[in-house]
Formats: sequence, structure tokens, C-alpha cells
Amino acid sequence: TTVFVSGATGFIAIHIVKVLLDKNYTVIGSVRSAEKGDALAKQLGSSRFSYEVVPDIAKEGAFDDALQNHPEIKVFLHTASPFHFKATDVEEELLKPAVGGTTNALKAITKYGGQIENVVITSSYAAVSTSTKEKNPAHTNNEESWNEITWDEALVDSFAGYRGSKKFAEKAAWDYVKENKVNFKINYINPSFVFGPQAFPVSNNELNTSSEVINSFLKLSSPNDPIPSTAGGFVDVRDVAKAHLVAFEHNLQNQRLILNAGRFNSQTILDVLHENFPELDSKLPVGTPGSDKEELKQYATIDNSKTKQILGFPLIGIKETVVDSVKQILNN
Ligand code: NDP
Repeated sequence: TTVFVSGATGFIAIHIVKVLLDKNYTVIGSVRSAEKGDALAKQLGSSRFSYEVVPDIAKEGAFDDALQNHPEIKVFLHTASPFHFKATDVEEELLKPAVGGTTNALKAITKYGGQIENVVITSSYAAVSTSTKEKNPAHTNNEESWNEITWDEALVDSFAGYRGSKKFAEKAAWDYVKENKVNFKINYINPSFVFGPQAFPVSNNELNTSSEVINSFLKLSSPNDPIPSTAGGFVDVRDVAKAHLVAFEHNLQNQRLILNAGRFNSQTILDVLHENFPELDSKLPVGTPGSDKEELKQYATIDNSKTKQILGFPLIGIKETVVDSVKQILNN
């Protein structure tokens, strides 16, 4: 079976590609340039991997050539989407590429991918959760929940912009399959912050946005440094990759899989670092060890019991995901 993976050079996507190759699938990845495609192909070292260059998913017809070239594609995994908080023009840099990328993928499938049986959209917990409700302990988010953010609210800053981009991109897919006759099954993956090691070690000082959350602690130089402010739900990238396979292998239809293994804040990360990497003690603030337990009770509940049942495997916990991320960075 041949699987197409858009944005194949991404943090999550490379893990997906690796798992697919391990399970004997043939994989065609979309990458922004031949250089990036060649580098990835070299790392993967598999004759079952090839790439198509799609420089910008937001451009009308972006995926048309790739699908016309490969009538053998049976599964389309759409992971490509801008994920950063650096946008100065939120609409152009986040909202339009996220939404345009998704609709261009679905339009190309309708036109040139009539044989495609399964589509999986990498959405986000950001499409599920309304930020003003995150700190409401009486609120519960589950697979039915939607971020209530409006397009205008998303324009306020790049954080709102990213959250909006994921909500409106996922919504565009739901609308597309409602309004068009499609031959494929479609499902959605909605991870919270994705941690864990890179599929191949990278030498960049700055990692992808979610990995940089952990890396930012490793950039501290003194126990007196200010503690980086962070909080959210988390899930390990290796589980996110496996979930993408579940989403098309298990005959699901119109399901959203909320991938979340628990909540964390800065203290959670500090505590894991001190417990497992004593060599970092001289560089890291201590904070108030264990204080995250009470603090995290102030947040909304994430009820993803339906997802966990569908997945059928346990999710990696905070200690393993942080320790494995950090070991890789320190060994680099
Ligand atoms: P990365 O930034 O590592 O990967 C994003 C990928 O999308 C890259 O391959 C990037 O290519 C590509 N891309 C972005 N914009 C465009 C564009 N306009 N045209 C073509 N390609 C583009 O991020 P992740 O792996 O973390 O994210 C992958 C997906 O998972 C995204 O949809 C993201 O929203 C979602 N997600 C991630 C979470 C996380 O915590 N990591 C949590 C929830 C959802 P290039 O690098 O060449 O620019």
C-alpha cells in the first residue's frame, strides 16, 4: 500500500514515515525542495521512500501534480501546516496556509485521487480547546469539543493565530466532506504539545516549536535564571506517529483522536530534569518541586477516553518523553 505524507520533513511527519516504512508501506512524502527531499531520503535509506516537491501547500493546485504522478496512492496523511509563534502577518503566514493547504489537499484528492481510500488530517488540541476555558477546572474538553475562536480573534497575535489556523483548517475539512461527494474515509488527529526525540538527531540550536519548549530549559545557565513559562497537555511523538496509522488502518470514519497523556507546566519539566539529570542542577532553577500537582488541578479536564479506547495502546508519560528528548539533545 502506498501512503502519501504531506510535510514529510516535519518533526512529527518523519516519525510517521519511519513507522510506515517499518510496517512495509511504500511512502511518498511532499517536501518543499529537492534538497530537503534528498536529505530525508538519505537519512531514511529506504527504496520504498520517494518524494514530490510541493514548495507551498497554500498555492492553488499545490498537490495536483503529486497526485497525478502517483495513481497508486491509497492513503493521504496531511501533516503539513505552519507551526510557529513568529508570524507578523497572522492571516498570511498562519491562517491562509493552514486552511489553504487542507482544502488544496482535498481538492487534489477529488480531482486526481479517486482511488484514495483514507485521509487523515493532522489537526491539534488547539482546534478542540477554547483558550479562555483552559483555566476553568469545571470545564471538560472531549472529542466533540471545538475551539470557539473567531477568525478576527485569531488575528490578535501569533498564539491566537496558530490556534485559529488549526481550528479553521480542521473545520475546512469537515465542511469539504459535507459539501462534496467523496470516496474516502477521513479522520483527524488532535495532539496537545508533542514532545519526545527527533526521529534523527538534528544539530540545530533551535528545534521545532514544541521540542523547543523542552530545549528552552536546557538553554538556561544558572539556577537564578527566570523559569520559562509553559503549560499545557502533552503527548509523545512516537505515540502521535502510531496514532496516524490507527486512524487509517482501523476502518474509522469521521473520528477525532485527541492525543493527550496528561498535563504539565514548567515545574513538571524542572522536576523531571532534576530527578534524571543531576548534572544539570548547577544550571537550572529549582522552583517549588511538586507544586505542579495542585496548580494543574486548576485547568480544564481533557477527557479523551474514547480516543484511548480506539488507540488500544498506553500513551508514554511525562518522564519518558522528557528524558528521551533531553538525552538526545545532550548527546548531540
Ligand atoms: P514542523 O514545523 O516540524 O513541521 C511542519 C511541516 O510542515 C514542515 O515539514 C514544513 O516544511 C511544512 N510546512 C509548513 N508550512 C508549509 C507550507 N506553506 N508549504 C509547504 N510545507 C509547509 O511541526 P510539527 O511536526 O510539530 O507539526 C506537524 C503537524 O502537527 C502540523 O500540522 C501541526 O500543526 C500539528 N501539531 C503539532 C503539535 C506539536 O506540538 N508539535 C501539536 C498539535 C498539532 P518546512 O520545514 O520545510 O518549512
